[in-house]
Order: sequence, then C-alpha cells, then structure tokens
Amino acid sequence: EVNVEKNLIDTYDAQVDSALRPSLLDEFVGQSELKSQLRVVLQAAESRGEPPDHLLFAGPPGLGKTSLAFIVAEELGRGIRVTSGPALGRVGDLAALLSDLKAGDVLFIDEIHRLPRPVEELLYIAMEDFRLDVVIGKGPGARTLRLEIPRFTLVGATTRSGMVSGPLRDRFGYSYRLDYYGDEELRKVVLRSAKLMHMQLTQAAADEIASRSRGTPRLANRHLRRVRDYAEVEGIAKITDELASDALALFGVDKLGLDKVDLEILRVLCERFTGRPVGLSSIAVSVHEDAGTLEEVYEPFLIQRGLLLRTQRGRLATERAYHHLGYPPPSPEGQ
Ligand code: ATP
Repeated sequence: EVNVEKNLIDTYDAQVDSALRPSLLDEFVGQSELKSQLRVVLQAAESRGEPPDHLLFAGPPGLGKTSLAFIVAEELGRGIRVTSGPALGRVGDLAALLSDLKAGDVLFIDEIHRLPRPVEELLYIAMEDFRLDVVIGKGPGARTLRLEIPRFTLVGATTRSGMVSGPLRDRFGYSYRLDYYGDEELRKVVLRSAKLMHMQLTQAAADEIASRSRGTPRLANRHLRRVRDYAEVEGIAKITDELASDALALFGVDKLGLDKVDLEILRVLCERFTGRPVGLSSIAVSVHEDAGTLEEVYEPFLIQRGLLLRTQRGRLATERAYHHLGYPPPSPEGQ
C-alpha cells in the first residue's frame, strides 16, 4: 500500500518536474564546471559534424542527470530516446531500441549500472563500433547477424558509480560526477521554479526552502509546491520566509533537509552506538539499506553538512548531529 502511494506521488512529481525542467545549458542552474566542460564537448562535436562522445553522469538522485540528457539533445537539435537499466531486461529490448535510432540521436539510459550482463555486452559493441551482433538460432546452426546502426550518443546516468563495470565506464568519452548544490545555487533553482509557477516569493522565503532541500533541486521543487499549497489554503498571495517555514514544518520537512534515511543513520550512531565508531555494514543492517547506497548516496550529504565523519575505525556522528537530534554529545572517551 505504501508503495502504491509512493509511486503515485512520484508520477505526479515527475509530471511537474518535466514542466520545470531546464531545456538549455544556460537555464541549468549551478554546476558551472560541468556546464563549461559540456559546452566544449558539444561545440567541438558540432563543428566536426559528428555526434559527441558518449557521456556518463553520476551522482545522487534529483541533481539533474535526466535534465542534462534532455539538454544535450536539445542543444544538438537531435531526438532523444529514454530508457533505464531495469527496463532493458533482455538483449532484444536493447537491440530493438538501437536499431530504431536515427543518426545523431541521443539515447538516455538511466540507472545504467543495473543493465544485465548480456545487454551490457551488446551495448559495448554498439557504443564502440555502431553495430549490433545478433545471434540467431541455437546450437551448431546458430549464426551471428551483423547490423549497422546509425552513430548516436549514449547518455548514461547512475546513482552508483562504483557499480558501473570497468569496460562500460571506459567506453564513455566524458564522465562527470554531480555533487550536491550549495544553498545559493538551490535558492536560484527555487526562484526560477517559482517564476515558472507564477508564484510570488521573497528572497528570504526562497532561502528558507533552499536550506531545507538537502542540496537537491528535485526536493527544492517538491517543497516549493507544498509551500504553494499551504499559501493557497491560507489565502496568502505573497510568500514570506515565515509562511514557508510554517508550511514546511507542517509537512514534517526537517530543518536541515534531512530525509528519513539520513535521520535513521544519525539515530543509529547517536542513540544505539553513542560515541563509538560504527562499521558501514552495521549501519546498513540497522537502517535496512544496502551498504553501497549508504556510501554513495547518503553519506556524502551527511559528511558535506558536517554531521558525519568517516574514520579508520568506522563512522561517527559529529557534535552537530547530536545537537540536531537533541542529544547531549558523548564524552570524549566515547562512553
Ligand atoms: P534521477 O537520477 O533520480 O532521475 P536526476 O538527477 O535525473 O534524478 P532530474 O530529474 O533531472 O534529476 O531533476 C529533477 C528536477 O529538478 C528537474 O525536473 C528540474 O526541475 C530540477 N532541476 C534539476 N537540476 C536543475 C538545475 N541545475 N537547474 C534547475 N532545475 C533543476
């Protein structure tokens, strides 16, 4: 039941997200290093009259990887096909998609670390030689049919860069790891989205929303919509920081933007193991997440916000974390 509800929310969010999605590099807020590198890659390819190299974007969810894939297609003036690792369960699924591409098209594969091995192997050849080797028949009578496919640009996205195999990673000509947005960048995302949604918002209100958005544009947009709901119900046209703060408090949005898993991790460290270093796998068991996801998706944010430390002996919560959860910090001996 919970899952159904979550899916409904996600579908709704996805629709609104696409309305707010930046369609050109200039509209993409922040990530200036990435944007300038990408501009060079795209312009150089265009002046050579070739599709650009395959591009890989890594980083936590909601930072704009899907948006970037659409932007690449838009900047090149080409079509885009969108799919994901889990949707390409069989070799035939990928073969059908690839043989349907037009020259120069962008193929976006989200969660590319989740491709089954045989599908991934078909993709290697397609990426490198722009051909498809399809095996027809079984046993001694089997033959390989070689099909040419048009030159295309693969854009891959992954939240788990550690799970992208070496051979696949090597076939991307350019890769970039997106990091959490700073509060200033997120404020710009909020103001941009507010404008598109015809909302009136003070700068301070935008700051309030940004600081609770976990460095993540998708969350910033989601919070902005909850604030809009609240303002509508209250009959208020101009949104102040006070109103934004009341609205987000009502929806249980944490002051530092921490989500449920973030809070569970900190609770394990502060409540159960108070002051003792804890191994990644013990945390994983306690919060029911796999260790890799904790390490690549959750910990970077907690570390960036000064709430968690990675030490030789294990993970530790910082004084700030204890303070945030309302506990006294442990004594220095770790007792
Ligand atoms: P996932 O990996 O979960 O698919 P993602 O990283 O692909 O997430 P997007 O779907 O591209 O994230 O971004 C979510 C929404 O956040 C977008 O629709 C857009 O409204 C907003 N957004 C993301 N990045 C930016 C940005 N740099 N500037 C403005 N808006 C952004």
